[in-house]
Amino acid sequence: MSEYPYNNRTFQILDAAEKGGYAVAAFNCYNTDGILGSIKAAERMKSPAIIEIFPWSMHFHGPEFIKFASEACHAASVPMALHLDHCTLEPDVYKALELPFDSIMVDASSHDPEENIRFVRHIVELAKGRGITIEAEMGRIVGGEDGVPTVDMETLYTEPELAAEFIDGTGVHFLAPSIGNVHGPYPPGGPEKYWQLDRLEMIKKLSPSSILVLHGAYPIIDGLMKKTIELGIRKVNLNKNLHECYLEFLGKNVGKLEMTQLQEKSIAVWTEEAERCIKLLGSDGKAA
Ligand SMILES: [Zn+2]
Repeated sequence: MSEYPYNNRTFQILDAAEKGGYAVAAFNCYNTDGILGSIKAAERMKSPAIIEIFPWSMHFHGPEFIKFASEACHAASVPMALHLDHCTLEPDVYKALELPFDSIMVDASSHDPEENIRFVRHIVELAKGRGITIEAEMGRIVGGEDGVPTVDMETLYTEPELAAEFIDGTGVHFLAPSIGNVHGPYPPGGPEKYWQLDRLEMIKKLSPSSILVLHGAYPIIDGLMKKTIELGIRKVNLNKNLHECYLEFLGKNVGKLEMTQLQEKSIAVWTEEAERCIKLLGSDGKAA
């Protein structure tokens, strides 16, 4: 099938994951090191993968960086896509639709639910003409990530019935539910205490053809992550655990290694952690 959305890279990658019962890593990258490290990991593991950048990069790095990221993903020897994460501002969404993103997360979750549906439906229509697919959040995943405005409001859990209506009403391709997952530090007890797996299970049950995305997966708890994949999670956004390893290495080695060595070795640290994540998500060896 070559018609939209089947001709879209992110859709192809996640549709294959849905059929194969595994999840794909979406690596949040802030620079070329992250992008190169993620591509190396995906190629070595023969795994599909997604590179995610924030709207911050559209502004700070500019459109040439987006083009580089897109070309680097598309030149990989495994299926890779470029995704824009948490696009909260309307002008940024329109700007992103003109850039070579394969998919965009429209985050209108701070609006009221009706406005969220109206806006996401409008963007899905526009994106279709450009061959881009859309992810949206339903409910509200609280907390801040570097590069994303902090939304300090109470968690709004995704109601499974409303999620089904949201998917039908918007035509959105990928849904990020709020099941107690948060961006940034968890209160004591961590994800194990807060993630409501029964809620995730019900969301998937009521929207069986949905492709579900997990945000707020730090810290990664291997057993819990595997359970969410069993329950239908197909894309996992990964940010802090990769940056932690990478920045720790840089912190210890800046000023001690030549630039070429510093870059090669810090990217190798990123790649190693990215490979671990790919394996955990079960997408290793799945590249067609
Ligand atoms: Zn997120």
